[in-house]
Amino acid sequence: MIIVMEHDATEEQLDRVVKYIETRGLKTQVNHGTQLNVVAVIGDKSGLNTENISALDGVREVKKIQEAYKLVSRETHPEDTVITFPNGVKIGGLERPVLMVGPCSVEKDYEGLLKVAKAAKEMGCQFLRGGAFKPRTSPYDFQGLEEKGLQYLAKASKQTGLLVVTEVMDTMDISLLCQYADVLQVGARNMQNFKLLKALGRIKKPVMIKRGPAATIKELLLAAEYVLANGNPNVILCERGIRGFDSQYSRNVLDIAAVPIIRKYSHLPIIVDPSHGTGKRYLIEPMGKAALVAGAHGLMYEVHHDPDNAMCDGAQSLNLEQFKEVTKSLNKLIGRIDYDNKMAKV
Ligand code: PEP
Ligand code: MN
Repeated sequence: MIIVMEHDATEEQLDRVVKYIETRGLKTQVNHGTQLNVVAVIGDKSGLNTENISALDGVREVKKIQEAYKLVSRETHPEDTVITFPNGVKIGGLERPVLMVGPCSVEKDYEGLLKVAKAAKEMGCQFLRGGAFKPRTSPYDFQGLEEKGLQYLAKASKQTGLLVVTEVMDTMDISLLCQYADVLQVGARNMQNFKLLKALGRIKKPVMIKRGPAATIKELLLAAEYVLANGNPNVILCERGIRGFDSQYSRNVLDIAAVPIIRKYSHLPIIVDPSHGTGKRYLIEPMGKAALVAGAHGLMYEVHHDPDNAMCDGAQSLNLEQFKEVTKSLNKLIGRIDYDNKMAKV
């Protein structure tokens, strides 16, 4: 349920509505919009009398939310969520789409990571990605450098000014990751690890949730709902391909339609990962462009200083030269989108 306040409702009237709900044992989240304030009611609403709520001063409308997800829904929060990082980078809404790039996993060779980070900076990317805790299908594959990897990311970030995105696999590692990362990534395999999602709701750092390989869009939105319902509004969604029946040419089916769908039903930023979405480096550029045209707030793709010898996902990683070419071409498109967005904003 949401309670939409009148545009001229006072703070006292809003407080009264919040108190009315909370004294009946339910929780509220107030969304302060530029036009209207909306109160989302969380909990068992069976004991609430909607007529009485509608009659409270300053209340315009009491609405039942149709979707299972509430806080992530556009009905509750009509304006786009824009996440602002300490260095001023923004993601979401009509902001310039961002680029998150880097190797699949952080490896022993720090100089290799630094080469990637420097190239990323030179090409105008905002984020350095790289896994220090790696979810691998086989227990015999490289599992990541763990804290050493985080230190490498932080060092490369210090040398370049890039923000760091890295994966969190376990609730136990959250506070460690918060010391090094700007965005905590929930990998596709952990999208429905509800204990992890709840714990990430209790931190303030932005969380990026990747769509599970067999998850519906609704399940992805409900995964985000867990984080918001536990108190963290800073969530980014990531479409990274779902499992199809034809893996001969592409590792996954990259669901580009998920982008406008998510933008229609949710206010959260949505980015696309064409590396994991396709498994092929030559598909990063065309699918990255398709995602941007569809309205993605950013892209995440893999780049390695020596993909042929990468510990993980070399086939879907660009080498430095390819990276520069592809990113130049993506930036050209981003420039045009950014221009249109700026026109739309005024
Ligand atoms: C990754 O981004 O490194 C990763 C493991 O991706 P996904 O969770 O989408 O497989
Ligand atoms: Mn990878």
